[in-house]
Amino acid sequence: MAVARVALDGAVDRAFDYAIPPELDAAAVPGARVLVPLGRREEQGTVLSRRDVSDFAGALKPLRAVEPGEPAISLPLLRLALWMARYYMAPFGLCLRAMLPPRMRSARVGSGDGFARERTLCRADPPGAGAGNADRSVSPTARQAEILNWLGEGESLLSGFCKTWHVAPETIRRMEEAGLVRIGTRIRRRDPLASRRIAPSSPLPLNEEQAAALRAIVAALPPNPASSRPILLHGITGSGKTEVYLQAIAEALTRDCGAIVLVPEISLTPQTIRRFVSRFGPVVAVLHSQLGPGERHDEWHRLRSGEARVAVGPRSALFAPVRRLGLIVVDEEHEPSYKQDETPRYHARDVAVVRTRAEGCAVVLGSATPSLESWRNAATGKYALVSLKRRATAGCLPSTTIVDMRVESAPGGGGAPGGGSGLVFSDTLVRAIRARLEYGEQTMLLLNRRGWAPRVACPSCGHVETCENCSVRMAYHRDDDVLRCHVCGAWRRVPDACPECGSPERRLAGVGTQRVESVARTLFPKARIERMDLDVTTRKSSHEEILSRFRAGKTDILIGTQMIAKGLDFPNVTLAGILDADASLCVPDFRAAERTFQLVAQMAGRAGRGERPGDVIVQTRSPDAPAILLAAREAYAEFAAGELAEREELHYPPFSRFCLVTVRSASREAAESYAARFADAIGRDRPDWILGEPCPAPIEKSNGVWRFQLSLRGPDSDLLHGRLRAAIAALPPAGDLSVACDVDALGGG
Ligand code: ADP
Ligand code: ZN
Ligand code: ZN
Repeated sequence: MAVARVALDGAVDRAFDYAIPPELDAAAVPGARVLVPLGRREEQGTVLSRRDVSDFAGALKPLRAVEPGEPAISLPLLRLALWMARYYMAPFGLCLRAMLPPRMRSARVGSGDGFARERTLCRADPPGAGAGNADRSVSPTARQAEILNWLGEGESLLSGFCKTWHVAPETIRRMEEAGLVRIGTRIRRRDPLASRRIAPSSPLPLNEEQAAALRAIVAALPPNPASSRPILLHGITGSGKTEVYLQAIAEALTRDCGAIVLVPEISLTPQTIRRFVSRFGPVVAVLHSQLGPGERHDEWHRLRSGEARVAVGPRSALFAPVRRLGLIVVDEEHEPSYKQDETPRYHARDVAVVRTRAEGCAVVLGSATPSLESWRNAATGKYALVSLKRRATAGCLPSTTIVDMRVESAPGGGGAPGGGSGLVFSDTLVRAIRARLEYGEQTMLLLNRRGWAPRVACPSCGHVETCENCSVRMAYHRDDDVLRCHVCGAWRRVPDACPECGSPERRLAGVGTQRVESVARTLFPKARIERMDLDVTTRKSSHEEILSRFRAGKTDILIGTQMIAKGLDFPNVTLAGILDADASLCVPDFRAAERTFQLVAQMAGRAGRGERPGDVIVQTRSPDAPAILLAAREAYAEFAAGELAEREELHYPPFSRFCLVTVRSASREAAESYAARFADAIGRDRPDWILGEPCPAPIEKSNGVWRFQLSLRGPDSDLLHGRLRAAIAALPPAGDLSVACDVDALGGG
């Protein structure tokens, strides 16, 4: 009997051998989903490989069931999962699970194919044929003849037919018995775009830069991938990168190849989806986490069957089962949301590059503000660099004003209703917004902090309200008049008196989006103002509704967190204001400057995308920081050069490999002492490695769990990962203690 080696879905990093019963032999191929016994339980898993004999000495248990049909995971993806498990130090089963569509992760193997079906109705022609009851067939009554006439030659939906023609289901059942009609079933596609009418679009004539970019991508498409490198497409905001992607995909399709387009979750708006669907129609499959599981299941299968050829989706769409994959596009490749924040902690951009190597296809990484990792890869020649330096439409970049908030004192912007300190709007910004309102143009205002005030303090004793589960301050939210923790979501009423000294007063310190909205309503009473942040967009479609009102010109001023900064294209926006550009500059992260640059440049890129030129106003207390100064005029190369020099000197990525180890426990002492022992186990014997001192995580306590971290960086990832693995093996975490290694971690350091 043949043997199947099976990786179980859970976090067990071991494969088990099972005997393949003869009746399951055909389906039990590598990549197939299986149901197996494990002890007294049943587990699900994926077949890794088949062999003739097992290394296991005892008698093998047989597989219980195998999902029939084509295996869930293709061979190249199976190999990719192996690579991920090794590189990201994650259990293999979890890497495989990350590749499955959601239904397959949870549904029991062999419990049906997951498609929705609907009943159909058609004439049984010749009467009774195939039903085996020709003898019972009778000539139709007048009523039945009428129904047969309505039915015509085609197939109808049973329910729809009965409703339209007012026919009782009972009548149809009797006609079926009489052999006059046949009731069948067919698969009902759950189409996420069913309710949208999307007009087709045709390719735009490209400008010279775009044409050169397209040529470079097309040269890397199959069948010419032999010497092709990943392509970094650096194009300033509004330079027409998307049009280049679209035409590259069109070329892939004419070569009978499919494509995957990765888009950050937050930019996966109906507008983005529309651009792809309007060009390629139903060969586009959308894989969005907001789709229902049924829709996602059907879209996944449309790709696998080859009915759909272009997958558009966030991070996990990287694993889409596209047939004959020819091209992967990673749009906004610098976006941190491409990094999965639970095991396996993979980076979709990096795994995309690995996948294209395995499948021999082209990969394009696009951004106006590339990650310094990709920029460096282009500098060393590992990636090919293609640049778009001009805007595709109106032409010029917006002009930028940096307002130094340390010296600003605008009488109009200060005294916020509801108390609180800190100036919200500078005079410059107020004047610029007034001008926009006068000319009927739109304004976007970014403040990357939701709530009313980020801190609530007692003016007498200085006590600050913090979360009971997390070591963070609670923000005051005026919408529902509560204190809210932005880490765990816990909320409570604002206490009547200070819990420390009993003082009834409180100070709402700092500014959040709710307060900006309220100040804006006071300053611009006639303006139509909307706010978009996590607090207002938790309803499924409100995100979309806010944006479509803004697009339709029903809103004058849109205030929001970073979710308004990314990839939106509104031609009538001529002013972009960034209210506190420093917010992301002073976080403990070696990428703080890079993140700030990206946010400011992306936000600046929202203004002046149409006919009229745009203005950008940046309010900051560090007007000389290169990240702000250079971002304001999208001087990416200059910023990158300076930042890279610093990174090199300090041995940070991209000049080293960076791993972040996080130890968690309900006991602070346990976490702290384990982290110290872990550092000792890694050892300090290598002069080219930098081992950070174990220290509390930036958010030391989260959801009641204490967290300690240590970072490790060095030139060679294999050696680093090997040492980390050895340290875990030497110190197996026990009790509630857990240790997670984040390879190529974002944040920290
Ligand atoms: P990016 O993705 O680089 O920010 P987009 O692809 O969104 O830029 O393009 C910005 C705008 O320019 C869009 O409205 C797009 O339709 C338009 N555009 C792009 N390429 C061309 C072109 N070759 N000719 C005319 N308009 C173009
Ligand atoms: Zn007090
Ligand atoms: Zn909390």
